Amino acid sequence: MLTLGPKGTNDIMPGEIEKWHYIEDIIRKICHEYGYSEIRTPIFEHTELFHRGVGDTTDVVEKEMYTFEDKGKRSISLRPENTASAVRAYVEHKLYASPQPVKVYYIGQMFRYANVQAGRYRQFHQFGVEVFGSRDPAVDAEVIAMAMDFYNRLGLKEIELHINSVGCPQCRSAHREELHNYLKPNFDGLCKLCQSRFTRNPMRILDCKEEQCQKFSKDAPTTTDCLCEECAVHFEGVKKLLDSIGISYIVDKRLVRGLDYYTNTAFEIMARDIGAQSSIGGGGRYDGLIEQVGGPPTPGIGYALGMERIITTMERQGISFPKGAQVDVFIATLGEKAKTKAFQLVYNLRGSGLAAEMDLVGKSLKAQMKQANRFECKFTLILGEEELEKGIAVVRDMANGEQAEVPLQEVVQYIAEKL
Ligand code: AMP
Repeated sequence: MLTLGPKGTNDIMPGEIEKWHYIEDIIRKICHEYGYSEIRTPIFEHTELFHRGVGDTTDVVEKEMYTFEDKGKRSISLRPENTASAVRAYVEHKLYASPQPVKVYYIGQMFRYANVQAGRYRQFHQFGVEVFGSRDPAVDAEVIAMAMDFYNRLGLKEIELHINSVGCPQCRSAHREELHNYLKPNFDGLCKLCQSRFTRNPMRILDCKEEQCQKFSKDAPTTTDCLCEECAVHFEGVKKLLDSIGISYIVDKRLVRGLDYYTNTAFEIMARDIGAQSSIGGGGRYDGLIEQVGGPPTPGIGYALGMERIITTMERQGISFPKGAQVDVFIATLGEKAKTKAFQLVYNLRGSGLAAEMDLVGKSLKAQMKQANRFECKFTLILGEEELEKGIAVVRDMANGEQAEVPLQEVVQYIAEKL
């Protein structure tokens, strides 16, 4: 067991991590362009934060949280998502007193005790953004546009954007009543979970995946049918702005975010060809959340995209990743004296900003040359007794096979200039 990681966790190994770095570089670039600053919050918080900030009735909080008591008898949970923590930090650091909107992004591990399957892990990574302090539909459209821009930059194809509006608490109480009246005659036909949702959170019945529930709720009134004037105008505004920059979407009236503090825009992005776990990101507006967590009434909106699922989708779509950074120089040595000299040279090469390697396990010259090839390094230096006596090194340019004898004290400069 000691040699196995806990179920639902993954090691990201050398060879694989380069893909993550590539995507993370794109994230940092796009976030800079869209005006987002990075925020890093702790991976654990007081459990209460998630009860208030994600919601008691969500599967994530009800069933999937890693919760434990610390030695000071406090209930602590590993974060199942990052929005609640970002909101806490916004309130704790009084960012509401600085110019609005405040735009932050994060990349990090999240933890959910879910049933493990392809694309569903217990530790996984999300990239997400949050915008605090504006209710303007332009913010909703910008956030959605940024997510789509990001997928495009990765080269992803066959991506579907689903959007909806869940309205404000007023629209939702009207919807709740209509939904109750509509579903009541078929209450006994709903799945057990939806029966409990019926009073607690009936809106979630609309996105239940159980066949029997889908049958009864197929023509049920949706939140979009019950939007008040202001919310309808907001939704139209978001759609118009998306149209204006050519972002296509599907209005999916069954897409809901089922808690009281979720408002207006909800969206989800699906990759058509990754099977059951096809959601590669989702988000929405949460104008009641900041107050719910203890801050002043402040609007907010955000999304979270699953990193593992993005990488899987890219791989399935045959998108190639650029190679990681190459080794610039490998020094092959013959004999102890040459090894000591190589040790100094490697140190100096690295000091000038070059990636340099040498043999550290006593390989034969032939095996060292093989290793240099494996590194796909740009230059190989050969250093033996004879070269040391002459005070030179043989430098081979691996791209064209050209060799030059270079005085030892000029090696660093010679290679730096060639690169
Ligand atoms: P959510 O926070 O549930 O809206 O999820 C946002 C995104 O995170 C999803 O679209 C998935 O891509 C990803 N995600 C959620 N849960 C998991 C999980 N257990 N394992 C891997 N990725 C996940």
